[in-house]
Amino acid sequence: MKRSTGQDRSITSKWRPATRAVRAGTWRSEQGETSEAMFITSGYSYDDAETPAARFAGQAPGMTYGRTQNPTVQMLEERIAMMEGAEACRAQASGMAAMSSTMLCYLSAGDHMIIARAAFGPTRWVTDNLLPRFGIEVTPVDGRDIDAWKAAIQPNTKMFFFESPANPTMDLVDIAAVCALAKEHGILTVCDNAITSGALQKPLEFGADVVAYSATKLMDGQGRVLAGAVCGSADFINNKLLPFQRNTGPILAPFNAWVVHKGLETLELRANAQADNAMTVARFLEGRVSRLLYPGLPSHPQFELAQRQMIKPGSVFSMEIAGGRKAAHALLDALELIDISNHFGDTKTLMCHNASTTHSSLTPEVRGNMGVTEGLLRISVGLEDPQDLIEDLDQALTKAGL
Ligand SMILES: *Cc1c(COP(=O)(O)O)cnc(C)c1O
Repeated sequence: MKRSTGQDRSITSKWRPATRAVRAGTWRSEQGETSEAMFITSGYSYDDAETPAARFAGQAPGMTYGRTQNPTVQMLEERIAMMEGAEACRAQASGMAAMSSTMLCYLSAGDHMIIARAAFGPTRWVTDNLLPRFGIEVTPVDGRDIDAWKAAIQPNTKMFFFESPANPTMDLVDIAAVCALAKEHGILTVCDNAITSGALQKPLEFGADVVAYSATKLMDGQGRVLAGAVCGSADFINNKLLPFQRNTGPILAPFNAWVVHKGLETLELRANAQADNAMTVARFLEGRVSRLLYPGLPSHPQFELAQRQMIKPGSVFSMEIAGGRKAAHALLDALELIDISNHFGDTKTLMCHNASTTHSSLTPEVRGNMGVTEGLLRISVGLEDPQDLIEDLDQALTKAGL
């Protein structure tokens, strides 16, 4: 293990981002493997009885059981923490495990949280249906409006939760302003950063306390596994999240951790190339659809904020077309190259109609309130040649009579 320095923070913290992406979180075994090993094991054995006794007592480092530690999963956690600039990270079974664990490990009966209303559908199910059953009160607000956050604060408010940009409405939250407000009131801020990934937006630099991920999206980036991650202070991760997770069990399998770990090595390259392709496609679509929602174009109402807090505006955006659901479905059915899929962040370009898929479990009122209209379509731009994507969209729009 002489030259394997990927687990030593005093060394990795000196590395620049591109080096961290391929070298941080590398624990090389005595075999000297270049690619990180996959440890498919649920348990561990010990040389003597005293060793596990010391580990269980917290007096010696080392593995005890797969629900608490696995070397492959820990390599992933170390790499994500280094890339994010966080003290600590804990991998999760999925993005939703990351969101729900973050809320449940921190909030108690009698607490109140505020959520930016334009959030991922299952996240809203947790805040609207699950948390109230445990006596946790939730107020959804228009995340774009700092006065709405301010007005919703109560003496028992413990958490602000937001996505930026939100999926699929592309509403942005002013991360620095909202986090500064929370700090004044001792409120923990949680940012769901799945849409852009840490390659294109770094919420911790704007004051967020916790960054939660669906690693299923750009981190894996090739549509293979479900995974999640939560980054934050060592205190939050080790004293709040870890006890919750090791006792309730939403842990990431080592195979999935390994896939995401390898995905991270190309995250920055993919995220940048896909964002550039998205810009090319968005510029073409701007003249062809009724409304385009892309934070990278001056037509987006929060363009200036996007310039301030995003490294690049990302590879996902939405558009509204005339003719509602019928026209939206006709457009999808006319596509020849782009896939109809509710997934995003993949190397393949994917498109979906949110009102009838990702947001279909919400009532039309909640959907309308969030801005998920019947004519809204979301596109996740991949790594194909953008000219091929433009030609496919052009012929599909024409076929759908748009
Ligand atoms: C996909 C997604 C999630 C949930 O992630 P899973 O890995 O599918 O559980 C949460 N938040 C956002 C913004 C997402 O896009």
